[in-house]
Amino acid sequence: MEIKVIQNPLEKRKAKPTDESKLGFGKIFSDHFFTMTYHTGQGWHDPLIEPYRPLQLDPTAMCLHYAQEIFEGMKAYRGKGGAIFMFRPMENIRRMNVSAERLCMPKVDEQLFFEALKRLVILEKDWIPHGAGTSLYIRPTMIATEPALGVHPANEYLFFIIAGPVGAYYAEGFGPTRIFVTEEYCRSVPGGTGYCKAGGNYAASLYAGEIAKKMGYTQVLWLDAVERKYVEEVGTSNMFFMIGDELITAPLTGSILPGVTRDSVIQLAKSWGVKVSERRLGMDEVMEAIANGTIREAFASGTAAIVSPVGQIYYQGKEYLIADGKTGQLTNRLYEEILQIQYGQKDDPFGWRIKIAD
Ligand SMILES: *Cc1c(COP(=O)(O)O)cnc(C)c1O
Repeated sequence: MEIKVIQNPLEKRKAKPTDESKLGFGKIFSDHFFTMTYHTGQGWHDPLIEPYRPLQLDPTAMCLHYAQEIFEGMKAYRGKGGAIFMFRPMENIRRMNVSAERLCMPKVDEQLFFEALKRLVILEKDWIPHGAGTSLYIRPTMIATEPALGVHPANEYLFFIIAGPVGAYYAEGFGPTRIFVTEEYCRSVPGGTGYCKAGGNYAASLYAGEIAKKMGYTQVLWLDAVERKYVEEVGTSNMFFMIGDELITAPLTGSILPGVTRDSVIQLAKSWGVKVSERRLGMDEVMEAIANGTIREAFASGTAAIVSPVGQIYYQGKEYLIADGKTGQLTNRLYEEILQIQYGQKDDPFGWRIKIAD
């Protein structure tokens, strides 16, 4: 399928933000977006890059009622000399298709998906900011658009990709965060949709997030839904603990999101000779490691921040300090290494970086 392009007339294009220190996250979007429509029997058709616009949906569009909605989050980076890079984009493409399958939504051809990303990023390359740590955030999304009530997989879908400049996550420095362990609420259950980037998962997570915020914490640490004991994720990131000489993260058993950053952290740490375990880690073990001082680092991983150190943890009515509330050595090294690979400032031994344009 050929991707058609309808250019936004120059006079209709938005002014680009001038102060890159005020970009923030998720507030500004570029002049074009990619759209493609699906009908049962016909498959995907009419791939198009067109001027950014509001969507028109029937009030009965099924995504609005039964939450058949999935998305992805990835970035394009401007390196030294102006080259444009993406970081492991095929992983996001494959993960979106895994989410699609679980939500009974149609898959998108991987090559067409990648072509759409590339064409959109190249068309919008002047929207990629220049400052250190800034990037173009890309949000592929799929929604059920069939106008009909009744719970069943829809017969019509819209796939779209929007993009917008985002600021450096650590504009104010690399500060450890405070996390709140909830035993009362769960993000996902065995057999559920925890491994998918599906909008419904995030709606279900908001309530505990608000409780954490009221208590003065940045994020929720989610435990497994069955025993309410084992560490799963933190907010919308994967969680790592360095206890003694072992770097521990939850195994991919279906209730956690298989983060691209998580996988990159595991591969890098292993290549540096760190013992990495994907295993269940009980809060009792975390508490013991805090008590006997063997906990050395704790951090969350995700595309937005790469890694985010955890300094304090609230559990069963008490607050605990981790590694004196300071950023760990491995956390720092992982951050620097991944950042430099993403921006083309360092060798890329794993072949993670893809050059989109010179
Ligand atoms: C997106 C996300 C992550 C991180 O995934 P990355 O691919 O590293 O960005 C982790 N957990 C949840 C729940 C997420 O939504």
